[in-house]
Amino acid sequence: MGEGGNGDSRDKDLLWYESMPDDWSWELLWSGYIRCMCGGIRTIDLEAKCGACGKTWVEVEPAPLVMRDTDGHELSLEPDFAGGEGRYEDWVYLRMLEREWRRPVDADLYGSVPENSRPSARAIVVLVFWSYFETRIGRLFRETTKAVPGQVMDHLLERHSSVGARMDRLYRVVFSSTYRADLNDLGYGRVASLLKQVEQCRNKFTHGQPEAINDALVEELVAGLKDEHEAWIAVFNKRLRESREQSAMLSA
Ligand SMILES: [Zn+2]
Repeated sequence: MGEGGNGDSRDKDLLWYESMPDDWSWELLWSGYIRCMCGGIRTIDLEAKCGACGKTWVEVEPAPLVMRDTDGHELSLEPDFAGGEGRYEDWVYLRMLEREWRRPVDADLYGSVPENSRPSARAIVVLVFWSYFETRIGRLFRETTKAVPGQVMDHLLERHSSVGARMDRLYRVVFSSTYRADLNDLGYGRVASLLKQVEQCRNKFTHGQPEAINDALVEELVAGLKDEHEAWIAVFNKRLRESREQSAMLSA
């Protein structure tokens, strides 16, 4: 873990998706993850410890259910588990992001505009990403705060409707921290900086400065997409773990 987990081992000349097989696509970022019995998000490496409960899959896997048929023969049924975490909206957003990134660039799209006032021809990548990120920040609050009644959380999220407010003010109220501080604590400082930059530039874009989203920002975001994905999962597990510890203390 740290600075994108496997950042030191990958080929520095390749973007993360360029080292994947040819038939690999971005929505498969979620393909290696399952929900642990504790609610955490873990990889399918059964030897690895869950980031939320700290246990291997063998330690948490429910025992097979043994039933007896009418002739008295025992039947062993494998238990169900929660399955993969990737959701329909993840699939849609990641497909959109990949398509917009790979689409041929129209170099003349803003050709009549002075260079320093020109947005990236692929600025849509940043806008779609920010919507995708927004869905995951909402999901983080709803999924890791089971002790908070759903209606209370709905109200809090309604009161703090912008992503910026949720990552800071609401985060302090619910978790006594900030999303940025969590990223830094978990070794994802580069992701924290990238998100801050994306947030600032996207806000400028929506307030009359389209040039704030330039090619450099789009490229930096795409290069950091996998790290950002892994960072969100790490924060999710950290928040779930702390919520479980608090619940255990209260019920002790
Ligand atoms: Zn777990």
